[in-house]
Amino acid sequence: MSGCEHKISGSREKIWLPYYFEGRDRGLKPHPYCTECGLIKNLSSERPRSIGYFMNIIAELGCRHKVAKIQTRLIALEMERQALDDKFGMDRKQQEDLFVEITTRILNIPARAVFELLT
Ligand SMILES: [Zn+2]
Repeated sequence: MSGCEHKISGSREKIWLPYYFEGRDRGLKPHPYCTECGLIKNLSSERPRSIGYFMNIIAELGCRHKVAKIQTRLIALEMERQALDDKFGMDRKQQEDLFVEITTRILNIPARAVFELLT
């Protein structure tokens, strides 16, 4: 959990890092970062998802598999703990990978079952 409001670094203070666009490495680009916690801003072209989007997927999983209320609660807690909704630092791919890791672990279902619901 980051719990940080994220203050962006000034235009002169940036870190040069690899930049990805449409899944391809496009060389180095200056990345702004948070001066409070040090998290580097994600510059991916794909906008990150909201927690609501992932909660809908969990509801959909509940229609297809046996999902107990406590498991839904555990997944929500885990998403919060790992700051899945931190749009500052997470890109969509990182969010999806993390979501798949959490749901497959807690629900004991194959990754494929989760991936097919992510559009
Ligand atoms: Zn921060």
